[in-house]
Amino acid sequence: MTIFTSNIHSQTRHGVRRILVAGGAGFLGSHLCTKLIKDGHRVVCVDNFLTGRRSNIEHLLTHPRFKLIRHDIIERLPALGPVDQIYNLACAASPPKYQSDPLHTFKTNVIGAMNLLEIAERNNATILQSSTSEVYGDPEVSPQPEGYHGNVNTVGPRSCYDEGKRAVETLFYEYHLQRGVSTRIARIFNTYGPRMSPSDGRVVSNFVVQALAGDDVTVFGDGSQTRSFCYISDMVRGLMALMNAPDSVCDPVNLGNPTEFTILELAQTVIETLASPSRVVFSRLPVDDPKQRKPDISRAAECLGWAPHVPLAEGLVQSIPYFAAEAVRAPLRLVV
Ligand code: NAD
Ligand code: UDP
Repeated sequence: MTIFTSNIHSQTRHGVRRILVAGGAGFLGSHLCTKLIKDGHRVVCVDNFLTGRRSNIEHLLTHPRFKLIRHDIIERLPALGPVDQIYNLACAASPPKYQSDPLHTFKTNVIGAMNLLEIAERNNATILQSSTSEVYGDPEVSPQPEGYHGNVNTVGPRSCYDEGKRAVETLFYEYHLQRGVSTRIARIFNTYGPRMSPSDGRVVSNFVVQALAGDDVTVFGDGSQTRSFCYISDMVRGLMALMNAPDSVCDPVNLGNPTEFTILELAQTVIETLASPSRVVFSRLPVDDPKQRKPDISRAAECLGWAPHVPLAEGLVQSIPYFAAEAVRAPLRLVV
Protein backbone atom coordinates (compact mmCIF):
# COMPACT_ATOMS: atom_id res chain seq x y z
CA MET A 1 0.00 0.00 0.00
CA THR A 2 1.57 3.31 -1.03
CA ILE A 3 0.83 6.01 1.42
CA PHE A 4 2.72 9.10 0.35
CA THR A 5 1.91 10.28 -3.15
CA SER A 6 4.63 12.90 -3.43
CA ASN A 7 8.01 11.65 -4.69
CA ILE A 8 10.15 14.22 -2.86
CA HIS A 9 12.14 12.27 -0.28
CA SER A 10 14.04 14.29 2.26
CA GLN A 11 12.93 17.39 4.07
CA THR A 12 11.85 19.97 1.50
CA ARG A 13 13.03 23.54 1.22
CA HIS A 14 10.01 24.56 3.25
CA GLY A 15 10.89 22.19 6.09
CA VAL A 16 7.99 19.82 5.40
CA ARG A 17 8.78 16.31 6.62
CA ARG A 18 7.11 12.95 6.13
CA ILE A 19 6.53 11.59 9.59
CA LEU A 20 5.29 8.20 10.71
CA VAL A 21 3.57 8.16 14.10
CA ALA A 22 3.01 4.63 15.40
CA GLY A 23 0.30 4.74 18.06
CA GLY A 24 -0.96 8.03 16.63
CA ALA A 25 -4.59 7.43 17.65
CA GLY A 26 -3.69 7.22 21.34
CA PHE A 27 -3.51 9.97 23.93
CA LEU A 28 0.03 11.23 23.31
CA GLY A 29 0.07 10.23 19.64
CA SER A 30 -3.05 12.16 18.70
CA HIS A 31 -1.71 15.38 20.25
CA LEU A 32 1.60 14.84 18.48
CA CYS A 33 -0.11 14.21 15.10
CA THR A 34 -2.19 17.38 15.58
CA LYS A 35 0.90 19.47 16.29
CA LEU A 36 2.87 18.00 13.38
CA ILE A 37 0.01 18.69 10.96
CA LYS A 38 -0.31 22.22 12.35
CA ASP A 39 3.41 22.73 11.69
CA GLY A 40 2.89 21.79 8.03
CA HIS A 41 4.26 18.24 7.98
CA ARG A 42 2.83 15.11 6.32
CA VAL A 43 1.80 12.50 8.86
CA VAL A 44 1.06 8.80 8.58
CA CYS A 45 -0.60 7.44 11.69
CA VAL A 46 -0.30 3.68 12.20
CA ASP A 47 -2.49 2.24 14.93
CA ASN A 48 -4.28 -1.00 15.73
CA PHE A 49 -6.84 0.81 17.96
CA LEU A 50 -6.08 -1.42 20.92
CA THR A 51 -6.34 1.57 23.26
CA GLY A 52 -6.45 4.36 20.68
CA ARG A 53 -9.74 5.89 19.61
CA ARG A 54 -11.01 7.22 16.33
CA SER A 55 -12.45 10.23 18.17
CA ASN A 56 -8.89 11.28 19.10
CA ILE A 57 -7.99 11.83 15.43
CA GLU A 58 -11.43 12.53 13.93
CA HIS A 59 -10.43 16.15 13.30
CA LEU A 60 -7.45 14.99 11.19
CA LEU A 61 -9.08 12.29 9.07
CA THR A 62 -10.02 14.52 6.14
CA HIS A 63 -6.83 16.55 6.22
CA PRO A 64 -4.87 16.16 2.94
CA ARG A 65 -1.55 15.75 4.77
CA PHE A 66 -2.83 13.10 7.17
CA LYS A 67 -3.18 9.36 6.49
CA LEU A 68 -4.39 6.66 8.82
CA ILE A 69 -3.38 3.01 8.51
CA ARG A 70 -5.01 0.49 10.78
CA HIS A 71 -2.21 -1.95 11.44
CA ASP A 72 -0.57 -3.86 14.29
CA ILE A 73 3.15 -3.06 14.37
CA ILE A 74 4.06 -6.58 15.45
CA GLU A 75 3.33 -7.45 11.79
CA ARG A 76 5.60 -6.06 9.07
CA LEU A 77 4.27 -2.73 7.93
CA PRO A 78 2.94 -2.16 4.41
CA ALA A 79 5.10 -0.12 2.00
CA LEU A 80 4.89 3.45 3.21
CA GLY A 81 7.00 5.40 0.73
CA PRO A 82 9.73 7.67 2.00
CA VAL A 83 9.80 8.64 5.65
CA ASP A 84 12.01 11.25 7.34
CA GLN A 85 11.07 10.73 10.98
CA ILE A 86 9.38 7.98 13.00
CA TYR A 87 7.84 8.39 16.44
CA ASN A 88 7.13 5.04 18.10
CA LEU A 89 4.32 5.65 20.60
CA ALA A 90 2.56 2.35 19.99
CA CYS A 91 1.94 0.52 23.26
CA ALA A 92 -0.81 0.67 25.84
CA ALA A 93 0.44 2.84 28.73
CA SER A 94 -2.15 2.00 31.38
CA PRO A 95 -1.25 -0.92 33.68
CA PRO A 96 -4.68 -2.65 33.45
CA LYS A 97 -4.57 -2.36 29.64
CA TYR A 98 -1.00 -3.52 29.06
CA GLN A 99 -1.52 -6.36 31.55
CA SER A 100 -4.63 -7.64 29.78
CA ASP A 101 -2.49 -9.35 27.08
CA PRO A 102 1.09 -9.36 28.40
CA LEU A 103 2.56 -11.32 25.50
CA HIS A 104 1.07 -8.92 22.99
CA THR A 105 2.47 -6.00 25.03
CA PHE A 106 5.92 -7.56 24.98
CA LYS A 107 5.71 -8.28 21.25
CA THR A 108 4.47 -4.75 20.56
CA ASN A 109 7.52 -3.41 22.29
CA VAL A 110 10.20 -5.69 20.92
CA ILE A 111 8.96 -6.93 17.53
CA GLY A 112 7.08 -3.72 16.83
CA ALA A 113 10.15 -1.60 17.53
CA MET A 114 12.31 -3.83 15.32
CA ASN A 115 9.87 -3.44 12.44
CA LEU A 116 10.02 0.33 12.82
CA LEU A 117 13.81 0.36 13.20
CA GLU A 118 14.09 -1.52 9.89
CA ILE A 119 11.99 1.19 8.23
CA ALA A 120 14.18 3.87 9.79
CA GLU A 121 17.30 2.14 8.50
CA ARG A 122 15.93 1.73 4.94
CA ASN A 123 14.84 5.39 4.82
CA ASN A 124 17.77 6.94 6.65
CA ALA A 125 15.13 8.36 8.98
CA THR A 126 15.43 9.46 12.59
CA ILE A 127 13.41 7.27 14.96
CA LEU A 128 12.25 8.17 18.47
CA GLN A 129 11.19 5.57 21.03
CA SER A 130 8.65 6.41 23.72
CA SER A 131 10.39 4.70 26.59
CA THR A 132 9.21 5.18 30.13
CA SER A 133 10.04 5.91 33.74
CA GLU A 134 9.06 2.23 34.23
CA VAL A 135 12.60 1.31 33.15
CA TYR A 136 13.56 2.45 36.67
CA GLY A 137 11.06 0.01 38.19
CA ASP A 138 10.67 0.64 41.92
CA PRO A 139 13.61 3.08 42.15
CA GLU A 140 15.97 3.19 45.11
CA VAL A 141 17.16 6.70 44.23
CA SER A 142 15.16 9.86 43.85
CA PRO A 143 15.03 11.85 41.68
CA GLN A 144 15.89 9.34 38.96
CA PRO A 145 18.75 10.37 36.62
CA GLU A 146 19.23 8.56 33.31
CA GLY A 147 22.41 6.94 34.70
CA TYR A 148 20.38 4.99 37.28
CA HIS A 149 19.93 1.45 35.97
CA GLY A 150 16.70 0.67 37.77
CA ASN A 151 15.15 -1.92 40.06
CA VAL A 152 12.84 -3.94 37.87
CA ASN A 153 11.14 -7.29 38.49
CA THR A 154 11.59 -9.54 35.45
CA VAL A 155 8.69 -11.79 36.47
CA GLY A 156 5.77 -9.72 37.72
CA PRO A 157 2.56 -8.26 36.32
CA ARG A 158 4.36 -5.10 35.13
CA SER A 159 7.32 -6.96 33.58
CA CYS A 160 5.82 -7.31 30.08
CA TYR A 161 5.80 -3.52 29.85
CA ASP A 162 8.88 -2.61 31.89
CA GLU A 163 11.17 -5.27 30.44
CA GLY A 164 9.72 -4.77 26.96
CA LYS A 165 10.59 -1.08 27.14
CA ARG A 166 14.05 -1.84 28.51
CA ALA A 167 14.69 -4.29 25.67
CA VAL A 168 13.69 -1.65 23.13
CA GLU A 169 16.24 0.77 24.55
CA THR A 170 18.86 -1.93 23.93
CA LEU A 171 17.59 -2.41 20.37
CA PHE A 172 17.82 1.32 19.72
CA TYR A 173 21.33 1.43 21.20
CA GLU A 174 22.52 -1.43 18.96
CA TYR A 175 20.79 -0.22 15.78
CA HIS A 176 22.56 3.09 16.33
CA LEU A 177 25.97 1.53 17.04
CA GLN A 178 25.90 -1.38 14.58
CA ARG A 179 23.83 0.06 11.75
CA GLY A 180 24.21 3.82 12.09
CA VAL A 181 20.49 4.48 12.58
CA SER A 182 19.69 7.93 13.96
CA THR A 183 17.92 7.11 17.24
CA ARG A 184 16.34 9.02 20.12
CA ILE A 185 15.03 7.61 23.40
CA ALA A 186 12.54 9.56 25.52
CA ARG A 187 11.95 8.22 29.04
CA ILE A 188 8.46 9.56 29.59
CA PHE A 189 7.09 10.09 33.11
CA ASN A 190 3.33 10.15 33.91
CA THR A 191 1.60 12.44 31.45
CA TYR A 192 -2.03 13.55 31.50
CA GLY A 193 -4.48 15.77 29.70
CA PRO A 194 -7.43 15.81 27.31
CA ARG A 195 -7.90 12.68 25.13
CA MET A 196 -6.73 10.27 27.83
CA SER A 197 -9.23 7.48 27.62
CA PRO A 198 -11.48 8.12 30.65
CA SER A 199 -11.81 4.38 31.18
CA ASP A 200 -8.24 3.20 30.80
CA GLY A 201 -7.46 3.09 34.50
CA ARG A 202 -4.68 5.62 34.91
CA VAL A 203 -4.72 7.62 38.11
CA VAL A 204 -5.48 11.11 36.80
CA SER A 205 -8.32 9.95 34.57
CA ASN A 206 -9.77 7.70 37.30
CA PHE A 207 -9.71 10.43 39.94
CA VAL A 208 -11.18 13.12 37.69
CA VAL A 209 -13.94 10.82 36.43
CA GLN A 210 -14.78 9.69 39.97
CA ALA A 211 -14.78 13.24 41.38
CA LEU A 212 -16.91 14.54 38.49
CA ALA A 213 -19.50 11.87 39.26
CA GLY A 214 -19.30 12.48 43.03
CA ASP A 215 -18.20 8.85 43.47
CA ASP A 216 -15.57 7.61 45.91
CA VAL A 217 -12.02 8.39 44.79
CA THR A 218 -10.07 5.13 45.00
CA VAL A 219 -6.56 5.51 46.35
CA PHE A 220 -4.56 2.28 46.06
CA GLY A 221 -2.51 1.48 49.17
CA ASP A 222 -2.17 4.29 51.72
CA GLY A 223 -1.60 6.91 49.01
CA SER A 224 1.96 7.69 50.14
CA GLN A 225 3.47 6.52 46.83
CA THR A 226 4.52 9.43 44.63
CA ARG A 227 4.23 10.34 40.96
CA SER A 228 5.21 13.45 38.97
CA PHE A 229 2.61 14.61 36.45
CA CYS A 230 3.45 16.28 33.16
CA TYR A 231 0.83 18.12 31.11
CA ILE A 232 0.44 16.92 27.52
CA SER A 233 1.50 20.15 25.78
CA ASP A 234 4.81 20.12 27.66
CA MET A 235 5.38 16.47 26.70
CA VAL A 236 4.66 17.00 22.99
CA ARG A 237 7.09 19.93 22.98
CA GLY A 238 9.72 17.75 24.68
CA LEU A 239 9.28 14.85 22.25
CA MET A 240 9.62 17.13 19.24
CA ALA A 241 12.66 18.88 20.72
CA LEU A 242 14.31 15.50 21.23
CA MET A 243 13.45 14.26 17.74
CA ASN A 244 14.95 17.42 16.21
CA ALA A 245 18.04 17.45 18.45
CA PRO A 246 21.47 16.64 16.96
CA ASP A 247 22.35 12.96 16.38
CA SER A 248 24.71 13.15 19.36
CA VAL A 249 21.62 13.10 21.66
CA CYS A 250 21.11 9.37 21.22
CA ASP A 251 21.30 8.42 24.91
CA PRO A 252 18.03 8.21 26.87
CA VAL A 253 16.55 11.52 28.00
CA ASN A 254 14.04 11.85 30.86
CA LEU A 255 10.94 13.90 29.97
CA GLY A 256 8.56 14.68 32.79
CA ASN A 257 7.52 17.26 35.34
CA PRO A 258 9.79 17.01 38.40
CA THR A 259 7.18 18.31 40.86
CA GLU A 260 6.33 15.24 42.92
CA PHE A 261 2.97 14.52 44.59
CA THR A 262 1.77 11.68 46.75
CA ILE A 263 -1.24 9.92 45.27
CA LEU A 264 -3.25 11.02 48.30
CA GLU A 265 -2.32 14.66 47.55
CA LEU A 266 -3.42 14.14 43.96
CA ALA A 267 -6.79 12.77 45.13
CA GLN A 268 -7.31 15.76 47.43
CA THR A 269 -6.24 18.25 44.74
CA VAL A 270 -8.68 16.76 42.21
CA ILE A 271 -11.54 16.80 44.73
CA GLU A 272 -10.80 20.41 45.71
CA THR A 273 -10.38 21.61 42.12
CA LEU A 274 -13.79 20.18 41.23
CA ALA A 275 -15.39 21.19 44.53
CA SER A 276 -16.62 17.60 44.51
CA PRO A 277 -18.53 15.89 47.33
CA SER A 278 -16.44 12.72 46.70
CA ARG A 279 -14.55 11.15 49.57
CA VAL A 280 -11.28 9.25 49.43
CA VAL A 281 -11.41 5.48 49.92
CA PHE A 282 -8.42 3.16 50.14
CA SER A 283 -8.04 -0.16 48.36
CA ARG A 284 -5.36 -2.77 47.72
CA LEU A 285 -2.04 -1.59 46.30
CA PRO A 286 -1.25 -3.42 43.03
CA VAL A 287 1.74 -5.82 43.02
CA ASP A 288 5.08 -4.13 42.23
CA ASP A 289 3.52 -0.65 42.32
CA PRO A 290 6.54 1.73 42.40
CA LYS A 291 6.85 3.77 45.60
CA GLN A 292 8.31 6.91 44.08
CA ARG A 293 8.71 8.65 40.74
CA LYS A 294 10.45 11.94 40.13
CA PRO A 295 12.51 12.69 37.05
CA ASP A 296 15.89 14.35 37.09
CA ILE A 297 15.49 16.49 33.96
CA SER A 298 18.91 18.13 33.88
CA ARG A 299 19.87 16.24 30.69
CA ALA A 300 16.75 17.48 28.89
CA ALA A 301 17.48 21.02 30.05
CA GLU A 302 21.09 20.81 28.90
CA CYS A 303 20.65 18.98 25.57
CA LEU A 304 17.22 20.29 24.50
CA GLY A 305 16.73 23.49 26.47
CA TRP A 306 13.49 21.85 27.60
CA ALA A 307 11.54 22.19 30.83
CA PRO A 308 7.83 21.76 31.54
CA HIS A 309 5.76 24.91 32.10
CA VAL A 310 2.29 23.74 33.15
CA PRO A 311 1.78 23.06 36.88
CA LEU A 312 -0.61 20.31 37.96
CA ALA A 313 -3.29 22.74 39.18
CA GLU A 314 -3.40 24.45 35.79
CA GLY A 315 -3.25 21.21 33.77
CA LEU A 316 -6.15 19.78 35.75
CA VAL A 317 -8.26 22.87 35.06
CA GLN A 318 -7.44 22.54 31.34
CA SER A 319 -8.34 18.83 31.32
CA ILE A 320 -11.60 18.87 33.24
CA PRO A 321 -13.88 20.19 30.45
CA TYR A 322 -12.75 17.27 28.26
CA PHE A 323 -13.52 14.65 30.93
CA ALA A 324 -16.85 16.32 31.69
CA ALA A 325 -17.79 16.18 27.99
CA GLU A 326 -16.76 12.51 27.80
CA ALA A 327 -18.93 11.71 30.82
CA VAL A 328 -21.93 13.24 29.04
CA ARG A 329 -21.10 11.53 25.72
CA ALA A 330 -20.87 7.99 27.07
CA PRO A 331 -21.31 6.25 30.43
CA LEU A 332 -17.88 5.55 31.91
CA ARG A 333 -16.67 2.16 33.03
CA LEU A 334 -13.68 2.53 35.30
CA VAL A 335 -10.97 -0.03 35.89
CA VAL A 336 -10.32 0.24 39.63
P1 NAD B 1 -2.30 5.13 24.71
O1 NAD B 1 -2.70 3.78 25.17
O2 NAD B 1 -3.31 6.22 24.77
O3 NAD B 1 -1.75 5.07 23.22
C1 NAD B 1 -1.05 3.97 22.70
C2 NAD B 1 -1.47 3.80 21.25
O4 NAD B 1 -0.75 2.70 20.68
C3 NAD B 1 -2.96 3.48 21.11
O5 NAD B 1 -3.53 4.26 20.09
C4 NAD B 1 -2.97 1.99 20.75
O6 NAD B 1 -4.10 1.62 20.02
C5 NAD B 1 -1.66 1.87 19.97
N1 NAD B 1 -1.11 0.51 19.96
C6 NAD B 1 -0.91 -0.32 21.00
N2 NAD B 1 -0.35 -1.47 20.59
C7 NAD B 1 -0.19 -1.35 19.24
C8 NAD B 1 0.31 -2.21 18.23
N3 NAD B 1 0.79 -3.45 18.52
N4 NAD B 1 0.29 -1.79 16.95
C9 NAD B 1 -0.20 -0.55 16.64
N5 NAD B 1 -0.69 0.30 17.54
C10 NAD B 1 -0.67 -0.09 18.83
O7 NAD B 1 -1.02 5.54 25.54
P2 NAD B 1 -0.25 6.93 25.62
O8 NAD B 1 -0.40 7.45 26.98
O9 NAD B 1 -0.60 7.77 24.46
O10 NAD B 1 1.26 6.42 25.48
C11 NAD B 1 1.95 6.52 24.26
C12 NAD B 1 3.35 5.95 24.43
O11 NAD B 1 4.04 6.67 25.45
C13 NAD B 1 3.35 4.48 24.85
O12 NAD B 1 4.40 3.82 24.18
C14 NAD B 1 3.64 4.53 26.33
O13 NAD B 1 4.34 3.38 26.75
C15 NAD B 1 4.51 5.77 26.43
N6 NAD B 1 4.42 6.37 27.77
C16 NAD B 1 3.29 7.03 28.14
C17 NAD B 1 3.20 7.55 29.43
C18 NAD B 1 2.00 8.32 29.90
O14 NAD B 1 1.95 8.72 31.07
N7 NAD B 1 1.01 8.56 29.08
C19 NAD B 1 4.28 7.38 30.32
C20 NAD B 1 5.39 6.66 29.91
C21 NAD B 1 5.46 6.18 28.61
N1 UDP C 1 -3.72 4.58 41.45
C1 UDP C 1 -4.66 4.81 42.44
N2 UDP C 1 -5.99 4.76 42.10
C2 UDP C 1 -6.41 4.54 40.82
C3 UDP C 1 -5.44 4.32 39.81
C4 UDP C 1 -4.10 4.33 40.17
O1 UDP C 1 -4.33 5.03 43.60
O2 UDP C 1 -7.64 4.54 40.58
C5 UDP C 1 -2.29 4.63 41.82
C6 UDP C 1 -1.45 3.46 41.33
O3 UDP C 1 -1.50 2.40 42.26
C7 UDP C 1 -0.09 4.11 41.24
C8 UDP C 1 -0.38 5.55 40.84
O4 UDP C 1 -1.74 5.78 41.20
O5 UDP C 1 0.54 4.12 42.49
C9 UDP C 1 -0.19 5.83 39.36
O6 UDP C 1 -0.91 4.87 38.64
P1 UDP C 1 -1.02 4.88 37.06
O7 UDP C 1 -1.78 3.65 36.68
O8 UDP C 1 -1.58 6.17 36.59
O9 UDP C 1 0.47 4.84 36.50
P2 UDP C 1 1.83 4.11 36.92
O10 UDP C 1 2.72 5.26 37.23
O11 UDP C 1 1.65 3.22 38.10
O12 UDP C 1 2.21 3.34 35.70
